[in-house]
Amino acid sequence: MRIGIIGAGIGGLVAAAGLQADGHDVTVYERRDAPAAVGAGLTLFVNAFAALDAIGLGDTVRAVSADALGRMRSGQRRPSGRWLVSVPPGSGPAVRSLHRAELHSALLARLPAGMVRAGSTAQADPGGAPVVTVDGALERFDLVVAADGIRSGARRTWGLDRGVRYAGYTAWRGVTASRGHLADEAGEAWGAGARFGIVPLPDDRVYWFAVLTAAEGADFGDEPAMLRERFGGWHAPIPALLDATPTSALLRHDIHDLAALPPRCVAGRGVLLGDAAHAMTPDLGQGAGQAIEDAATLVLLLRHAGAPDAALREYDRLRRRRARTLWHGSRLAGRVAQASSPAAVATRDVLMRAMPAGAAVRAAARVARWQEPQGVSPGESR
Ligand SMILES: Cc1cc2nc3c(=O)[nH]c(=O)nc-3n(C[C@H](O)[C@H](O)[C@H](O)COP(=O)(O)OP(=O)(O)OC[C@H]3O[C@@H](n4cnc5c(N)ncnc54)[C@H](O)[C@@H]3O)c2cc1C
Repeated sequence: MRIGIIGAGIGGLVAAAGLQADGHDVTVYERRDAPAAVGAGLTLFVNAFAALDAIGLGDTVRAVSADALGRMRSGQRRPSGRWLVSVPPGSGPAVRSLHRAELHSALLARLPAGMVRAGSTAQADPGGAPVVTVDGALERFDLVVAADGIRSGARRTWGLDRGVRYAGYTAWRGVTASRGHLADEAGEAWGAGARFGIVPLPDDRVYWFAVLTAAEGADFGDEPAMLRERFGGWHAPIPALLDATPTSALLRHDIHDLAALPPRCVAGRGVLLGDAAHAMTPDLGQGAGQAIEDAATLVLLLRHAGAPDAALREYDRLRRRRARTLWHGSRLAGRVAQASSPAAVATRDVLMRAMPAGAAVRAAARVARWQEPQGVSPGESR
């Protein structure tokens, strides 16, 4: 099949690599001049790797990621460092961490030169016909995959957009050389309307994120100074990580998710994938994992279905169900983690401390489970 993909983010690139390996003729349109990633670190759980393995990409991503996080004591603690929930090394769902830019490069390296057309903004067809318009020219396909992110133009064009919602908090991310900051502990510290997360990366680097409850677009003035003041009294190595991160390596993003999920993620011969279909808050660390699951599901269903329409129907059914769970779960996790009032924080902390680590591990394992599609029955193919 000829397949056009709008967007060379993680979702678009994984789909492109999987589809082209199956012999499809793939073109990827990316509006940015270079399809490189803006971002810092990323965690991918076992579900993402199961999906990557199913389409032959697991080792590509393992090669640029580290499993150090799973070998550390992790969980949630108070700003003082006292553990609320402590997950012993090796007992949580398998997780690997990596730098986004390195993931993008590794995925791009799997694609033939010229497959990604950078600097090309593509528009989907309002009727769901498998065509895209690029620089005024119509390009024809058998299928169009819209992996164009949270503010997906295709989702709007196909009448599936229900808006984007500000989650109520803003996040800073940084990457720094470790210099022995981590010892053998990682995870998140939760305060009142404030959170700090620490993740080891390959090559002794550390990815950290700081999250504050704030108005959308709030102006914090000198942000590095504000972060040092806000988190300067938190447990080690948080102040040292902030001090070690150059201002130029600091990223800030207000956190959004889809206000409501689209009623369908298929329109004719067009399909939404990744954040375009189900952008969720990053509180479960599953957004990219879901984009990867989408891509693998699509590749496998197209591989086994006689005709694409049956595969798309099954994709819509499977992926909307899975994404709905994680989209809701991410919102809930964000509300709990960002609790701000003294009463809410006190209640949260008491409940967290009462929770056995085993229960937290089982809940995380339920989230990190991907079920490979069993194919489309012959009766469903046309
Ligand atoms: C602070 C933060 C931390 C996160 N941490 C994690 C984590 O640890 N683990 C995890 O799994 N997820 C995490 N996520 C979520 C994850 O980053 C996203 O879910 C994931 O990157 C979505 O990938 P995507 O390919 O669907 O979309 P995107 O990465 O947004 O890619 C969309 C691409 O489409 C392009 N595009 C858009 N419109 C057009 C057009 N008309 N024509 C051509 N190109 C177009 C864009 O330029 C972009 O390159 C985090 C998110 C945030 C904000």
